[in-house]
Amino acid sequence: MNSKELINYMKSTFGEPMVEVVDLKKYFPVKGVFRTIGYVRAVDGVSFIVPKGKTLGLVGESGCGKTTTGRLILRLIEPTSGHVYFDGKDIFKLKGKKLLEFRRKAQMVFQDPYMSLDPRMTVFDIIMEPIRAHKIKVEDPQKFVVNLLYEVGLNETHLYRYPHEFSGGQRQRIAVARVLALEPEFIVLDEPTSALDVSVQAQILNMLKDLQAKRGLTYLFISHDLGVVRYMSDYIAVMYLGKIVEMGPAEEVFEKPLHPYTKMLFASMPVPDPFEAKKKPKVEVIGEPPSPINPPPGCRFHPRCQYAMDICRKKEPPLVMAEKGHFVACWLYAKK
Ligand code: SF4
Repeated sequence: MNSKELINYMKSTFGEPMVEVVDLKKYFPVKGVFRTIGYVRAVDGVSFIVPKGKTLGLVGESGCGKTTTGRLILRLIEPTSGHVYFDGKDIFKLKGKKLLEFRRKAQMVFQDPYMSLDPRMTVFDIIMEPIRAHKIKVEDPQKFVVNLLYEVGLNETHLYRYPHEFSGGQRQRIAVARVLALEPEFIVLDEPTSALDVSVQAQILNMLKDLQAKRGLTYLFISHDLGVVRYMSDYIAVMYLGKIVEMGPAEEVFEKPLHPYTKMLFASMPVPDPFEAKKKPKVEVIGEPPSPINPPPGCRFHPRCQYAMDICRKKEPPLVMAEKGHFVACWLYAKK
């Protein structure tokens, strides 16, 4: 299935896209003493859609390319090749006012709320900063900021305090309020709860879900925490060494993972109930991901795969639809 067929099929089954990613690649040069000695293939030809009003979870081990994909989709970095369409428009061709409009509509919440807020600014100024940068007129700024604070579970008593006076969860609420100030339609959530205590994580995730329902937001949820991704996502894409290896409706992928890598990833997920844990199928976890500078030929997962065949070492598996709306890139499911 080529990327055009894949996108068309996803549109017809997942719904109208807010974001459409086509053959996106990002290679980072590796500098030697005198010249470029290679490239890190961080993102190597990924295609998918994020349907309007839904959440697509992007999962994989660290270094698989999920954060780079998120940054490319927001045009925080330029691609090596490929396209990202936002509401039908190619974001890498946007300039001037249209680019500014895109920057307002598409926002990011970062992993670390300790790093993303300026410690010298009050909450009021932090939230008003993007409004001023975009030269948006607000009649009553104080009322505007207080309303946003209520929306994220804070209140007017927090208005003129500084970031160091808040807990990690409260700081992430402030970061979300700042993003909401611009009334975005699409938000990339990059590991938004991984720096927080487990007890606080659920509160932030529930808040993000409520905001999505209330404002009709579309999310790309990036995480290595499978439990969190399952809770948040309508659809899931699993990345391995810059490629999407499996994609489909979240419950379907979690209940019936097809790709050996997805199975391995899910097998390493902790299960709190020891009786349930015993029932889990045992999947051997072999080695660590190889270097993205010189990825293995054929299927990139073959050095770690217990089902690897001859063809896996020579030819890259195409992404095929194994079941309705459930895609996998593995020779166990493709015609050889
Ligand atoms: Fe394993 Fe081959 Fe499938 Fe790759 S293509 S995951 S090596 S069986």
